[in-house]
Amino acid sequence: MDERNSPLTKSELAFTYPPYPSDNLGHLELDKLVRLSYHRLCKEPKHDLGVLDLPVETLNMIMGHLDLRSLMSLQRVNRRAFHMVNAMPELGAIMEYSPNALRAIFAIKTGRFITCRMLFAKLCSYQCETCSEFAGYLYVLTCKRVCYHCFTSLPKYLPVLRSDARERIGLPADIIKQIPQMKSVPGRYTALHRRRPRRTLMDATAVREAGIALHGNARAVECYSKKVAAEKLEAYRVSRRKLEPDLVDHNIDREYSFNLPRDEYYFNPRRFMAIVSVPFIDIQDRRAHWGFHCLACLTDVKGIKSSDRQYIASLFRDHLQEDGEIIREKHFTKPVAKIQGPNPP
Ligand SMILES: [Zn+2]
Ligand SMILES: [Zn+2]
Repeated sequence: MDERNSPLTKSELAFTYPPYPSDNLGHLELDKLVRLSYHRLCKEPKHDLGVLDLPVETLNMIMGHLDLRSLMSLQRVNRRAFHMVNAMPELGAIMEYSPNALRAIFAIKTGRFITCRMLFAKLCSYQCETCSEFAGYLYVLTCKRVCYHCFTSLPKYLPVLRSDARERIGLPADIIKQIPQMKSVPGRYTALHRRRPRRTLMDATAVREAGIALHGNARAVECYSKKVAAEKLEAYRVSRRKLEPDLVDHNIDREYSFNLPRDEYYFNPRRFMAIVSVPFIDIQDRRAHWGFHCLACLTDVKGIKSSDRQYIASLFRDHLQEDGEIIREKHFTKPVAKIQGPNPP
C-alpha cells in the first residue's frame, strides 16, 4: 500500500469528523422492514438444480446478471439454490459491508431494475457519477452512486410522482409501466417535515426522456406542462370565484402559486426517499470506507459545498495539498516568497 492510501495517522484523524446522519432510507429501521434470508441457517441440500447444475464459476456468472428480485426467487427454489446464491462472492461482500443497500432496494421495490453485479460495482467505486467527488450515498431507484451535494440539488435526483408523470407530462399507462419506479417507505425524512405516506415515485431522467419521445422534443414537453398548469389554474379560479365572488384574479393567482409544491432541495423529503448511505468497498484492502469530512471546511466561507465534501485517506491528503495544511482548524496556505526584482536605480 503506498503512503497516500495508507490509513490516516492520529494527527490527521484529528482534522476529520464522521459523516452527518442523513435522514435517508437508512434511518427507517430497514432491518425490521426487510428481513434478508442470507444468514438463515439452511440444512444440507437433498436435490440438485436440474438443468442449472452447472460449474460454480458458470453459475456465478449467470447469477451475477440476474436482477436482485429474480436472484431472491432463485434462492427459494430449494436448499441447493439457497447455498449457491449465498456462495456468490459479490453478494457475500454486499452482505458483509453494506446490507442496508440491499434492504433499501427491497424496501422500495426496485430489485427488478438492479443486478447483483451492478450493485457490487457501485459499492466498489467511490466517485459520484455526476461530479466525481467521493460519494457516500446510493440512489437506489436506478442504482447510481451520488454525493450529498448532487442528490440534494440536481433535478435528476428528485423522483417524480407517478400522478405528475401522468398529468403534467401526459404519459400514458403503457409507457409509465416501463419506467423505473419505486414505492416510497412511509416515514419522516427531513426534520422540517411531517411523516410522509407511501407514494409511487419515478426516475426523473426516465420520465423526461419518455416525455421527449412522446411529444417530440424538450420544448414540446414544456409547452404541454405549461398548458396543463394553465388549465389547473383556471379551474382553481373558477372554484374560488364560486366561493368568494369578490376575489380578484391577482389574489387568486397569488394564493394558488403559494400552495404549489416547490423544491426545497436539502429540506425536500422526496430527495431522500430513494437514498441510502453506503460505504466504498476497497477490494484491495478488503475494508469498507464510509468517508469523512474535513474539520477546517466545516466553517469554510466558500459555501455549503466544501463542508459537504467527503473524503477517504488518499483524497484527504490531496485536499490538504491543494487547500493547505490545517493549523488551528483552518487551512493554511504558505505565502509564496516574493521574487526579488532588479535593484531600483
Ligand atoms: Zn456529486
Ligand atoms: Zn478542508
